[in-house]
This record gives sequence, structure tokens and C-alpha cells, in this order.
Amino acid sequence: MKILVLNCGSSSLKYQVLEMSATSNTLLAKGLVERIGSPNACHSHKIDRKDKYQVEKAISNHTEAIRSVLEMLTDVEYGVMKDLSEIEAVGHRVAHGGEFFFKSVPIDDDVMDKIEKCCQLAPLHNPANLTGIKAMAELMPDVPQVAVFDTSFHQSMPDYAYIYALDYSYYEKYKIRRYGFHGTSHKFVAEKACKLAGMDLDKTKLITCHLGNGSSVTAIDCGRSVDTSMGFTPVEGVTMGTRSGNLDIGVVTFLMEKEGLDAAGINNLVNKQSGLQGLSGFSSDCRDLVDAEKSGYYRAELALKKLAYDIKKYIGAYAAVLNGVDMIVFTGGIGENSDRVRELICTGLDYLGVSFDFKKNAGTRGVDVVLSKRNSKVKVMAVTTNEELVIATDTMDIVNELREKAAIEENN
Ligand code: AMP
Repeated sequence: MKILVLNCGSSSLKYQVLEMSATSNTLLAKGLVERIGSPNACHSHKIDRKDKYQVEKAISNHTEAIRSVLEMLTDVEYGVMKDLSEIEAVGHRVAHGGEFFFKSVPIDDDVMDKIEKCCQLAPLHNPANLTGIKAMAELMPDVPQVAVFDTSFHQSMPDYAYIYALDYSYYEKYKIRRYGFHGTSHKFVAEKACKLAGMDLDKTKLITCHLGNGSSVTAIDCGRSVDTSMGFTPVEGVTMGTRSGNLDIGVVTFLMEKEGLDAAGINNLVNKQSGLQGLSGFSSDCRDLVDAEKSGYYRAELALKKLAYDIKKYIGAYAAVLNGVDMIVFTGGIGENSDRVRELICTGLDYLGVSFDFKKNAGTRGVDVVLSKRNSKVKVMAVTTNEELVIATDTMDIVNELREKAAIEENN
């Protein structure tokens, strides 16, 4: 089954086409349309064994961007199918499902309504996701579409973990609570790590650390998320590329007064100018900081230590939440690749039963690997994530279910 996976941002569109079956999956093509809405939008597209194809042209909206993608998919030279009818389903990454969605769902009018209702919770992402869904429905009305939410995996959090200690009426009125993000990635790496380690997910206590430009840590008990570090928005939690992570609210009100910042100014500050970028003063990229640390640059070292310290604190907290931990999993650009950050985090976790293999960790990147010693009570793994594959898998499963249901109804 060929599945098109779409991830629509406010002015960008990422896509992949995967050939999926119950036993295998193959990536056929992937690409990105950037600067949608501008006269020099850029569409880049890549298929196996060919150089990347790139074209600049005017693309005024998401419908045009998707049209450009569909044209590329059937292109004589760069295409991966003869006819668009080969696409059997479309899976959409949707940022926020609020309290409506506990799992991925087939898209219909009611689902679109609910995604719309969640726009106030994710004003930058949900409107773009909806635009992509509507554009696809217009261009390929007969193809089933599925929504996969960043938040749904964390809907299993208990009330005392997701509630903020504010006046309860704000929860009732605005649904202000902790939601968590990166759900598809946490779920995927938890399942993958358990499978690789020969452990039963339903009996395992896991702490998964998705560390990239955005980072979050999740406590998973028997396959269910019971707490996660991101909250109402992705700003809460650990230090990130450009986000501050946890911050005393007093700092916000102080800066509003001193610097004359309004809500938009504060939003920009904590989302775009903080984290590794703000601390180092020159880069949000972990690789740059590791290089600068080697040259003795104090603020790069400080930024890396702060990042690792935050994550270590969440590991300690979540070990308490879970009443112990069997496995710690690292993923995301930093978690998969940065031996320096993993080393900083895993130094001094022996009290927890972690016997980290520092030698094996050194230089290891981009692979699925056990990083703890054989006798370690707590297993530590680095595992590559693949959110598009989760979206394609959920989409295939849902479409197969719908087909089975339709077949049974027809037989009746
Ligand atoms: P992501 O958001 O998951 O794509 O992750 C982006 C982050 O991963 C950036 O901070 C990169 O510096 C970091 N990263 C990617 N490759 C490496 C690497 N080889 N070593 C250290 N950090 C890396």
C-alpha cells in the first residue's frame, strides 16, 4: 500500500511516500516545500539512487504546494508511481488533538471540526495542518485521510500529572493543562527499544528522552505515557535549541516590566532566543557547542551542562514517578548522535542502577545500540526515531480496518 505522509507547517510542507505492508516498509520518496506563499518558494525532492531535485517557483498556498508534490510523484524522471491512483491513503501529522483524541483517527467532518477547535491551543501548527487536510480533500477526494497527533500518546497521563495548580476554572474554561508533544516518537522508540532488547513493553518501566531542536522526556509505564516534560505548549521542560524550558514565572513578569515586553515579545524570547542559543550566544546546534566546548568556550560548556543537568533531573523525577526504571532510551538528533551529551547525562546515575558503558558510547552515532554494560540493572539504549513511519503505519492500520468493516457490511 502506497501512503503519502504530510507534515504541514505554516509556510512549509514536508512529505514522504512509503510502500507499506504488514511485514515491511520502503521509503520511496521524500521532500520539502519551503516558503509557501512567496514568489520564490523552493521544492526539493529526493528518491533513492538519484541526486536531489530542486526547483524555485511561485507557490501561493498549501493547495498549490500539494499539487506541486503530486506532479513530482508522477514525474517521468523523479516520480515513484505511474498514476496518482496508486496512493491508497494520506497520513497527516497534526500538532494538537487536545482532549479529543487518544489515538490516530480517520478524518471526517467531525474530526476536522475538533482539530479546528484545538487551533487556539496550537495557533501556529493546527491551522496549517487543517489547510493541508482540506487541500488534500480537494485534490484527491476519494482517498482516505488519517490524522496522527503529537499529543494523543500522552492523553493517558493521570489528572494530577497534567493539571497545573492554577484556579481550576481556567482548566474548565480554556482547557489549560499539560498536554505533552513528540508523542509519536516516544511511543515508537519505546516499542522499538523493547523489541530490540527482548523486553515486554507491557511489563517495562521506561524513560524516553527525545532530544533534538525540541526536546522532551517521557515516563512510560507498561506502554502508557504517565508523565512528560512538555506541557500546555512545547516550551515547558528541559533546555532546548532555542526554547528556555522551565522558567520561574517571576522572570517573565520581571522582564515584561524591565524590557517593556508584551505577550508576543515574551513568546519570541522563550521560544526563539533562549535555550542553547541564548546561553551560548552563537548557536542552537549541539554540534557547534561541542566543538566550541573543546576550544574552551565557557558559555558553550555551560549550555551543554545545563541541557544535560535538566535531563538528568527529569530522569531522577520519573524514576520516582515510575517507582523504578528498567530502561532509559535516547533518540532525536542529539540523543541519537551526541556521545558528549549522553555522557554528561549518564555520569553519576549509578545510584539508580545505571552502569553506563562510556567506551561504547564514545563515537557511537545514528544506530540502534545498547549503551549500558551487561550487568547494568537499568538498560540504556540509543534508538533512531522515525515519526513518518509511525504515521504511515497508523494510516495503513486504520485504512485496513475501514476496509474490513466495509467488507463485512457488504456481506451482511
Ligand atoms: P532534530 O531536531 O531531532 O533534527 O535534532 C537536531 C539537533 O541534533 C541539533 O542540535 C543538532 O546539532 C543535533 N545533531 C545532529 N547530528 C549530530 C551529531 N552528529 N552530533 C551531535 N549533535 C547532532
